[in-house]
Amino acid sequence: MSFAQEKIEKKVFDASCLKTAACLRAFYFTYLRKVGKKGGRLPLLFGTAMHLALERHYKGESVDSSLEAFDSLPSFSVSGDDLRTKDRGKAIFLNYLALYKKEDFTILHAETDFVLPFPGFSYSGRIDLVIRFLEQIYIMDHKTSGRSCSSYYFNYFRPDMSTTGYCYACKELMGECAGAQISVLSTARNPKVPFMRAIVNHTPQETEDWREEVIHRAETVIIAYNRWRNGLSYRKAFPRTTNLCSEYGGCPFRELCIYGDSQRFLYVDTSVHEKKE
Ligand code: SF4
Repeated sequence: MSFAQEKIEKKVFDASCLKTAACLRAFYFTYLRKVGKKGGRLPLLFGTAMHLALERHYKGESVDSSLEAFDSLPSFSVSGDDLRTKDRGKAIFLNYLALYKKEDFTILHAETDFVLPFPGFSYSGRIDLVIRFLEQIYIMDHKTSGRSCSSYYFNYFRPDMSTTGYCYACKELMGECAGAQISVLSTARNPKVPFMRAIVNHTPQETEDWREEVIHRAETVIIAYNRWRNGLSYRKAFPRTTNLCSEYGGCPFRELCIYGDSQRFLYVDTSVHEKKE
């Protein structure tokens, strides 16, 4: 049984898992069928390397140690992608450090894991940073974007299941949370605005709705999973939700949903099976 499936068995869900469950078929392909996005690993690897470099930096490690995070990336262009090489990752990171040489916040916690109990399941995640900024407590989340930074980008985080979840968890852990500071690093070629930060707040109503959404999605996944484990075919247990097929440049599973899951269209992604320490 894969690590991803083990978590489902234990009824431990995180934001990306519940977001994917907006279409149960996509959830099935992602977490239970090992189907990945063909040729789409480099952006993920690049984002992971950048995240690791930032984690080391904010934990107080040396610049050299942070830069080593990019060693997992190729030194040359792969499939024509010359934007996500090792050198480019290092250059973006060093420019970020130069811009934010003196931070205007204090770090309270770095890389904080949390597990929140819900009726019948748990909601887990990891907060990049818990910070004190202008006498208030915020969470800080770093993101990479393929476009030049703009204020429009921050609309993605309101409403957003992950961000509201981080703020909710921060409130549970620290007793307060004034909102989220989203810090964006552009990976675009010569971006007009390479870095940008903004505060994203949440109304009490958003938080209440987030709770209901988490409960609804988790319960839906548990029911579908149990039906599938009891022998129902995946097509019946995990029905499609077709209004999401064209979102964000198109769902990676479109061919499977249109032509069926013949081997011709299957690409096995082992990443969802690797246990992340
Ligand atoms: S193509 Fe559409 S229906 Fe199929 S998995 Fe993706 S979002 Fe769901």
